[in-house]
Amino acid sequence: MEIRLENINKIFKGDKKKGVEDTIAVSNLNIKVNNGELAGLLGPSGCGKSTTLYMIAGLKEPSSGNIFFDKEDVTHLVPEKRGIGLVFQNYALYPHMSVYKNIAFPLTNLKVLTFKQSIKVKTLELLISLLDNDKYLEIKDLINSSTLDSKKINKDLALRNLINKYHISPSFAKTLFSLDYSSKENINDVIIKAKEDINKEKEKLSNKGFSIDNEYYLLDQDNKRIEEKRKLSKDEIDILVRDVAKLVQIEEQLDKKPKELSGGQQQRVAIARALVKKPRVLLLDEPLSNLDARLRIKTREEIRRIQKETGITTIFVTHDQEEAMSICDDIFVMNNGKLMQEGKPIEVYKDPKNLFVAKFLGTPPINVFKGEFKDNAIFVDNEKILDNVTLTNEYEDKSSLEVYVAIRPEGFIFEDNNETLGLSLKVNEISLSGKEQTLICSHNQRLSEQIKIVIDGDNPISIKEYRFKIKPNKIHLFDLKTEERIYFKDISK
Ligand code: ATP
Repeated sequence: MEIRLENINKIFKGDKKKGVEDTIAVSNLNIKVNNGELAGLLGPSGCGKSTTLYMIAGLKEPSSGNIFFDKEDVTHLVPEKRGIGLVFQNYALYPHMSVYKNIAFPLTNLKVLTFKQSIKVKTLELLISLLDNDKYLEIKDLINSSTLDSKKINKDLALRNLINKYHISPSFAKTLFSLDYSSKENINDVIIKAKEDINKEKEKLSNKGFSIDNEYYLLDQDNKRIEEKRKLSKDEIDILVRDVAKLVQIEEQLDKKPKELSGGQQQRVAIARALVKKPRVLLLDEPLSNLDARLRIKTREEIRRIQKETGITTIFVTHDQEEAMSICDDIFVMNNGKLMQEGKPIEVYKDPKNLFVAKFLGTPPINVFKGEFKDNAIFVDNEKILDNVTLTNEYEDKSSLEVYVAIRPEGFIFEDNNETLGLSLKVNEISLSGKEQTLICSHNQRLSEQIKIVIDGDNPISIKEYRFKIKPNKIHLFDLKTEERIYFKDISK
């Protein structure tokens, strides 16, 4: 499902008497998340990303603007009616309930609008299909091999094996387990009895004026399926819980209490609980921030896998740019309640529209210097780092201009005898990480906290000053006042 935010504003009213000003948490926000995609709402603390997520969830109401799920305007719809699954940073699991019950919880009072089905005929037909044509031998083998000490059949294990293999409810598994598989005649008797029962049930329904279609739905005299609003049965809940537990890979943990699980497993339970109602949209609010670094990476990949497998439109809120860049189809970078830029992570990284976005994305961060454009060249501290360029767009007629010069860490080339163009940096520290080395450098026109550059690990670097050549596509210029991007082009070609 597509999610669209149109001109969304959110103002939290202050208290004039107490001198508390209004807070503009979200300002004129326009966002479109494509159907089936994973979108990241990204920005520093306080930028308005959680408020935005809660407005999409229906937990907070916009001060103005509209929210659409496909064509439906959901701006004033209560959360329960939006079809959303929400996952919080602190998991919010019920500690006294088992994992199974935690996941099943949203389903227990859920009323679903469905068509009436003959569960009896459906179950009996399933029974016949599982036993007929010697297929019962497979069930017999599965039960006989369900032993813990390779001697006695373990009933619980056998039931679990049957449930997992045939995707059936616990009560149906119990029926299968209780059959006598010692001879083919016994099984044939069961099949004959099931066929008789099906006929009896059909006759009963027919006397009431109903027939059954090939998906076991009851049809009225006009051959129309019959709607009913009802709670889910225990068996239906069981199948949904086990399906989603399998999807998030916690099917072995269903009987445990949340505290017996690792943080990563608890978060999977929270995701399973959000997904069990088959929501139209999955909303994740900083879901990884309580996990340690290793689990964070593992769990974010899990979220991506689950999202891809289900194809559910998902919005993921995080302040961690690396997290968003690594798993999202699209990112929306926010600052001070405003959308700064949106797009595919790599496109936004390569083509930041302003200094904020350039600084916010990338590890290590972009290096920023005070610099100048003059005589068709870019200078930092009177060193010419790039020439044969001219500014474009609204800056086209400028022959000189003070600018921010931002250079990505991977934009530096080590050439020991480079005499023409480049930037001189004093290397203060070197850290080698396999094929790359990160150099921490100093420069008197630096505006970033640290200058960090990343170059090939084979370069023979020592602690001294070097002149580095700069890759033109890794340099970005920004206006000193507006901090908007100033584009330039190569005029030598
Ligand atoms: P964080 O990552 O720290 O959660 P965030 O980007 O999610 O930050 P929000 O929680 O959306 O930011 O907050 C945006 C702004 O709105 C902040 O300035 C915050 O103080 C303010 N704010 C949020 N909720 C309320 C509230 N209920 N009343 C008043 N101000 C609020």
